[in-house]
Amino acid sequence: MSESLHAKVLVVGGGPGGYVAAIRAGQLGLDTVLVEADRLGGTCLIRGCIPSKALIHAASTYASLAGDSMARMGISAGESWLDMAQTVRWKDSIVDKLNGGVTALLKRAKVRVVDGWATFQDGKTCTVETASGPVTITAEHVILANGSVAVELPFLPFGETVISSTEALCLTEVPKRLVVVGAGYIGLELGSAFRKLGSQVTVVEATDSILPLFDHDLAAPVARWLKEQGVTVHLGARAKGLDLEHGETHLIAEDKAGATLRLPADKVLVTVGRRPNTQGWGLEQMAVDLTGPFVKVDERCATSMRNVWAIGDLVGEPMLEHKAAAQGEMVAEIIAGQNRRFDPVAIAAVCFTEPEIVSAGLAPREAEAVGIEVLTGVFPYTANGRARSMEAADDGGFVRVVARKDDHRLIGLQAVGGHVSELSAEFALALEMGARLEDIAGTIHVHPTLSEAVHEAALRALGHAIHI
Ligand code: FAD
Repeated sequence: MSESLHAKVLVVGGGPGGYVAAIRAGQLGLDTVLVEADRLGGTCLIRGCIPSKALIHAASTYASLAGDSMARMGISAGESWLDMAQTVRWKDSIVDKLNGGVTALLKRAKVRVVDGWATFQDGKTCTVETASGPVTITAEHVILANGSVAVELPFLPFGETVISSTEALCLTEVPKRLVVVGAGYIGLELGSAFRKLGSQVTVVEATDSILPLFDHDLAAPVARWLKEQGVTVHLGARAKGLDLEHGETHLIAEDKAGATLRLPADKVLVTVGRRPNTQGWGLEQMAVDLTGPFVKVDERCATSMRNVWAIGDLVGEPMLEHKAAAQGEMVAEIIAGQNRRFDPVAIAAVCFTEPEIVSAGLAPREAEAVGIEVLTGVFPYTANGRARSMEAADDGGFVRVVARKDDHRLIGLQAVGGHVSELSAEFALALEMGARLEDIAGTIHVHPTLSEAVHEAALRALGHAIHI
């Protein structure tokens, strides 16, 4: 016989959208059930943000042992070696600790967690196949946080040789030759990490630039690093399939000129995007509208069906952890009666490549394209003492501020360079608070820090930078 549960709030998906929604709902005293088929933490914690950044950190540490900078600093670590299986175990231990943390937080918020795959019969009822039998759950409010999955190319199905980011994060041996299909942030973050770990890396990208979502000035230092590291990047090239000949696997692609490329590969990492997870759980049983491939929501994350909400990767770009979590928190508060809507001024995005990129708000060309006259201030990392002292100044890094010419209000902040991800908070805060160039210029920034470059970029836009 099937067990039945009733809750005020049913959350489907235990990723950062779903688990944050459930914790906040629990904090607000709402009787909440969360269903997760895999592990709590979702894509981000289990097979995305956290494991990828752990791998990138390990790879950078390993590469620094062999690089010139150690000798420049007068350090020798002796012979370096890599035990990739141990690297993966270390990465898994970080994931396990954080997964345990999410479990504990849900428990503290008195959220009931049901393990299994939820299938909806109608808008407010689902059945979960758990290890101890089916559980039917009904709820007054449903929050859909089913996330996204990697896009699979029909002519390159995932398997032994062709892998997605999920498998790439679990490789216990470094592939000798890695071909990456898709030069977005996931492909380049992982491709760069494997280059540092010793793989020979080739990138195939269909458009004319790497990191097509970032502007050329920000992507250029990354392109330079890839070139210096011997990573071959084929732009305007399309992957066509795999060819196995004499025991050798090749990725077949067509280059810009229509010529066939045969790229030897031990592994082919396909990172051509992610699609919302809208299939296989009964979405079609619910009166919920879609917009393109995504679930359609309004500014409160309400779907077209009353008291059915949707958040995170399921509802559209940007497919980022911090957007999913912010929407989850908001929806729980709306259900509890608060007046909220999702209307951020900007959602900063970071790319953990070499060097890192961070972008919030509009780039100068984007502002001009919508008819806004701007003042721009660019400050190079070479003139920042902290960047120099961390060996982070030599890769073409800079901070850029973009402000309206009429009232000096900031509409965009971007940076590229070592460790710039940490500037994202100041960027987002400045835009959210409606800061003007004078606000940044009038804020005393700590010395010596990379954030001084933000201060100097604002001064430069105002025409009186000190250190350049
Ligand atoms: P998800 O995290 O995808 O969670 C959805 C959950 O729902 C899954 O656990 C799934 O098992 C569960 N589920 C789905 N359907 C059902 C069902 N019917 N029944 C039960 N359970 C179900 N974002 C960043 O902001 N920064 C980064 O640095 C970053 N790096 C990334 C690196 C990689 C390699 C990848 C793949 C992604 C990265 N992301 C990053 C994106 C980030 O992981 C996602 O934006 C985020 O996880 C979305 O959260 P979500 O809650 O919407 O969905």
